[in-house]
Amino acid sequence: MPSSSARTIRGATRVLALLGDPVDHSRSPEIQNAAMDAAGLDGVYVALRTEAETLRGLVEGVARAGGGGNVTVPHKERALDVVDHLTPEAERTGAVNTYWLEGGAIHGDNTDVEGFLRGLRRLDPHLPEGAEVLLAGAGGGARAALVGLLDQGALNVRIFNRTVGRARALAESLGRGRARAVESADELEGAHFDLVVNATSLGLGPTDPLPIPLGHLRSVGAVKDLVYGDPPLVRKAREREIPALGGEEMLLQQGAVAFERWWGREAPLEAMRRTLTGKGSP
Ligand code: NAP
Repeated sequence: MPSSSARTIRGATRVLALLGDPVDHSRSPEIQNAAMDAAGLDGVYVALRTEAETLRGLVEGVARAGGGGNVTVPHKERALDVVDHLTPEAERTGAVNTYWLEGGAIHGDNTDVEGFLRGLRRLDPHLPEGAEVLLAGAGGGARAALVGLLDQGALNVRIFNRTVGRARALAESLGRGRARAVESADELEGAHFDLVVNATSLGLGPTDPLPIPLGHLRSVGAVKDLVYGDPPLVRKAREREIPALGGEEMLLQQGAVAFERWWGREAPLEAMRRTLTGKGSP
């Protein structure tokens, strides 16, 4: 249900726009409009289906008119060339998901990095400092997770991916000497990891296999899955009494970081969480 029905849109109302294709499935308009309502801010968040050719014009137009917004699939990489200033997270992950005007320049950030870390700390406030990590996946989500893990002191990250060459390339480009590809699943037999992260798409489909052969590992400290809902990896981990969290928390937290970039103030996280889950803090 839309949560912003009581809000009056005025001439001064600030427009925030999600740019991507498709966008009609996105939960961000609900979450961000609820956040602005809760914070008493005069803004409106809309989703605009955006083609590659119109991305630059929309980012520049919306931002220079005093607004900002998010960028989603398939334009996160393209948006790098559209903004004037990149945060280190956007630069290193090679993706922009948030844009805004500041000091006359259009800034671009990838809030998935901080969103991933905030979600992780909800699982265990000490993570990922000093952790031995197994990261499944080598796409956009895995890049954000890897940057966050290494920035925050993960000791070692093993990258496990269907296409091993992509895992090697990711370790080489962003690994800072602390990440290495898993060449074969046999290497995981009997291993211990303080943290297992799923950043593959496996778990979205009802018949998907587990992204990680959990039963082959000797022990696991915690599991963080980027996939939304109740993915099988999270269920299996909980059956083994391993603390585990699905992708909603990262979605929520990356939205909270974006809110902070646009408004320069703390996001009303509980109002956002209520909108996303239909209930309050777990
Ligand atoms: P992506 O760039 O397309 O990468 C997909 C990854 O999944 C690749 O590593 C790919 O392996 C792997 N994969 C896909 N199908 C597979 C299969 N059948 N068997 C084994 N591996 C398979 O996608 P992404 O943007 O990183 O997103 C990955 C997942 O994370 C999605 O479920 C997405 O919704 C989620 N995500 C969530 C958040 C959040 O806020 N919670 C943020 C970002 C992403 P190959 O390299 O071998 O193709």
